[in-house]
Amino acid sequence: MKRSDRLFRWRDPYDIAGTDALFAAALAESAARQRAGCADYDRILTQLGYDEAALRAGDLSALPPVPTLYFKHHTLFSVPEKRLLICASSSGTGGVKSRVGLDAASLRRGLWMVLRMARRHCLLSARPCHYLILGYQPRRENETAFSKTGFGFTLFAPALSRTYALRWEQGAYRLDLAALRRRLECCAKGGAPIRTIGFPAYTFFLLREMEREGLRLQMPRGSLLTMGGGWKQFEGERVEKEELYRLAQDVLGIPETHCVEFFGAVEHPILYTTCEQHHFHVPVYGRVLIRDPDTLRPVPNGTAGLVNLLTPMADCMPILSVMTDDLGVLHDGGTCPCGCAAPWLEIIGRVGVRDIVTCAAVAADYLREGGLPQ
Ligand SMILES: [Zn+2]
Repeated sequence: MKRSDRLFRWRDPYDIAGTDALFAAALAESAARQRAGCADYDRILTQLGYDEAALRAGDLSALPPVPTLYFKHHTLFSVPEKRLLICASSSGTGGVKSRVGLDAASLRRGLWMVLRMARRHCLLSARPCHYLILGYQPRRENETAFSKTGFGFTLFAPALSRTYALRWEQGAYRLDLAALRRRLECCAKGGAPIRTIGFPAYTFFLLREMEREGLRLQMPRGSLLTMGGGWKQFEGERVEKEELYRLAQDVLGIPETHCVEFFGAVEHPILYTTCEQHHFHVPVYGRVLIRDPDTLRPVPNGTAGLVNLLTPMADCMPILSVMTDDLGVLHDGGTCPCGCAAPWLEIIGRVGVRDIVTCAAVAADYLREGGLPQ
C-alpha cells in the first residue's frame, strides 16, 4: 500500500504526532512520482533547490511550495488528463481560476478523509433533513468546487429537499433569498432538522436581513448551520463570529454548538472542520507551515505569516505544498480547551494580491445584484 493511502486511512484524524514520519515519507514518495510525470514540476523543484533527504528526515519545509497564484495561470498534471475523473475550478464566472483534477486514487483518499472527519464531527446522520444551500445550484457547465462540495455535503444525511440560494434561471445565476426565507419558515413548522451550507458572509447577511424583518424561528432540534469558503473580500465588514452565532440562536434557534465552519482550498482539498471552540485543528491529512512573508522561512508557532499548506492526497497534480495568499497563525497543539492535541490554524486575513478573484468575490457580485446591504 502506498504511504499516502495508509495516511488517509489513519484511524484518528487528529493523531498528528503519530503520523509525522508517515506524512513526510508520503510527501517525498509522491513528489518523486510526480516530478517524473510532470516536466514543469521537476524543473520547479530543481530550480528551487528541493532537498529530498531533508524532507525524508522530517523537514517539511524542504519541499519548495508552489504559489496558488501559479496554479491560476498554469495547469499542471502529472498523469494523462484522461485519467482524471473529476475536475473543479476555483471560481465561477470571470477572474483567473485554478483547475484541479483528481484521479481515482486521489478521490478514494478524499472519500476516506471526508467519512472519517464527518464521523468525528458528528455530521453523518441517518435522519433525513432539509438542506439550504447558500451557493450555486449545480449544472453540468458549472465546475466550481463550491457547487460540487455544496452538493456533496448534502449526502451526509438523507435529503428531504435541497433549496439553492443561487438558482439558474434564463441563462444566469440569480440570488433568491426570498425563496430561502420561505423555505426556512416552512421548515420551522415541520419536524425534520435543517442543514445550511454556504459562505459565512451569505449566512450572516441572510440572518441579519431576517432579524431586521423581525423573524424569529425555532428550527427543529438537530439542525446545523455549516459554513465554508472563508470571508475573502468581505473581510472589511467581517463581523465578530460571536455576532453570527448570536444571530443563529436568535433568528433560527440554532445553538452555537451547532454552528460548524469548514476550511479548505481548491489547491489543497483537505477538509478542516472547526471544533466546539471554533478552531481549525489540522487533521492528519495535511500539515501547515507559516512562513515569513519576506524571507519565506518557516516561523515558530504563534507568529503570523503566509499560510503554506501541504498534503500528499493527490497523485495526479503537484499540489503537494502550496503557498496561499492567506495570512495566518498556527497555534500549538494542546492549547485549545476542546482537548484536541493537534495544532490549530487561525486565518487572519489575506495579502493584497489584486488579480485574485475567488468564488467569494463572485458571490459578492451576486449579493450586489441581489440588492443586499454592502
Ligand atoms: Zn479545539
